[in-house]
Amino acid sequence: MHTLKEMKEALLHLLFPHTCTGCGSDILPEDSVLCLRCLHALPETCFEWHPSNPAEKIFWGRLPLEAASAQFYFTKESLVQHLMHQFKYKRNLELGRQLGRIMGEQLKKSGRFTADALVPLPLFPAKEKRRGYNQATVLCEGMAEVMHIPVLDKAVLRPEHTETQTKKGRIERWKNMEGKFVLADPGSVCNKHLLLVDDVITTGATLEACGLELLRGTNTRLSVVTLCIAAR
Ligand SMILES: [Zn+2]
Repeated sequence: MHTLKEMKEALLHLLFPHTCTGCGSDILPEDSVLCLRCLHALPETCFEWHPSNPAEKIFWGRLPLEAASAQFYFTKESLVQHLMHQFKYKRNLELGRQLGRIMGEQLKKSGRFTADALVPLPLFPAKEKRRGYNQATVLCEGMAEVMHIPVLDKAVLRPEHTETQTKKGRIERWKNMEGKFVLADPGSVCNKHLLLVDDVITTGATLEACGLELLRGTNTRLSVVTLCIAAR
């Protein structure tokens, strides 16, 4: 005898097959968009446990941090690259939130990321409008579920290009804007340890610019975490 709930689930599965975002397998743990095989195959860096890890070293002499980490190694043609693509360009927000929960769990376990609030690195407003969401905010939503801290997505803003820059060359203008962030709500970051979140870390230049702006807050401390880091 099947319960109504079981029958409803079977029907839903028939109509909307629920398959692994990584490999297409239809055997999934509850509340997961990834199968166990794909979850275990994710290349964890384990940086969160180690002071002076490669993510922290990127910021040495540039941005004073409590701690930094990146969850997974990113390589070309890999599972992580496939998932990043699904998450950033195919609107797979449930995947983003699940990856965020994984990040949050690991950071909590390490005990080195006792932040008061999460801050997603802002996109340019026009870009966010085109995409429909900010992927860093989606990661923060998943992290917040397990870390039980708020997401401050209005504390720092990223203004669009301004009129005064129209005379400069395109490349120069782009370089110029890459580093422009504005602490819009200094009161919300005062006396707080913030965890700045983004999807990927490469040179660290954008995170550095945004982090320096956040550190203008009174007694504000900062840590940085990203979903992945390019493997060298
Ligand atoms: Zn899978």
